[in-house]
Amino acid sequence: MMGELRVLREQAEAELQQAGTEEAFQAIRTRYLGRKGLLTGLLRNIANVAPAERPQFGKECNEVKEELSARIDELLAGLASSKKDEVLLRELIDVTLPGRGVRHGRLHPVTQVREEICRIFAGLGFSVVEGPEVELDYYNFEALNIPKNHPARDMQDTFYVEENIVLRTHTSPVQIRIMEKTRPPVRILSPGRVYRRDSDISHTPMFHQIEGLLVDRGITFGDLKGVLTVFLKQIFGEETALRFRPSFFPFTEPSAEVDIRCVICRGQGCRVCGQSGWLEILGSGMVDPEVFRNVGYDPDEFTGFAFGLGLERIAMLKFGISDIRLFFDNDMRFLEQF
Ligand SMILES: [Zn+2]
Repeated sequence: MMGELRVLREQAEAELQQAGTEEAFQAIRTRYLGRKGLLTGLLRNIANVAPAERPQFGKECNEVKEELSARIDELLAGLASSKKDEVLLRELIDVTLPGRGVRHGRLHPVTQVREEICRIFAGLGFSVVEGPEVELDYYNFEALNIPKNHPARDMQDTFYVEENIVLRTHTSPVQIRIMEKTRPPVRILSPGRVYRRDSDISHTPMFHQIEGLLVDRGITFGDLKGVLTVFLKQIFGEETALRFRPSFFPFTEPSAEVDIRCVICRGQGCRVCGQSGWLEILGSGMVDPEVFRNVGYDPDEFTGFAFGLGLERIAMLKFGISDIRLFFDNDMRFLEQF
């Protein structure tokens, strides 16, 4: 019987050497130490042992049992810790590496200027409207008093989609679309992309305009001057000097271009203002009676004014940017400065 016990002990150890998983270790435990296990069976047969040897046999059986149990516990613990090491190794984090950081988004300088202008005019009771960028020739030109073959069409190099469809060259067609649908009073501001065949340091084929229109009874050139003065002083500062110069646009009469005293040299003369001390900022004028007739307004009853300006130009002057093309290069080093 003692020999059997030793064999059993060696056999168990050999099986443990082979086993490598938790399930295998548990199976060995059951096979040897379980209620119907081999070792338990051996103890049950203690009656076959000579009475004098029984205490010794019982003692050794219990020793082997405890030893085997401890051995399995030890192997299981080793298995768990090596599994943990494996996970740690796989999910190793080097805490000394520099962090990746979160990059903050910023509003594009043109967007910032557009929002500021919309905010100022919202305070004056204007609402913001938008219109299509692919536009009918009628809305882009004809309704604005620029018939086909009119020399004024040369002022704007146009992208044609088809004979009567263009990429809008200005935001003015939005005024026509709104006036067709509404009766005065009209107080609107229409920002958006416009397109012209032009590209150099101060022109890009696509740029942004914002246009305003106010129509009601009794609107005069004095209202135009008042509104534009309030606007330009808010955007460039209270001390900004303005001048209104007579000009020509087919859809306004009379028309005026508005200059501000150069924000770079404060009127002394510099490269930006071409030594004149003044900067052209926007075009404006009283809406031409012909335009009113095209949308069914009676020019004897209603008067109004319109104005338009380029957003890139305002952003260039406000932020001191010298090349318009920088706005559209999407260079983060440039954009992150605003
Ligand atoms: Zn200047």
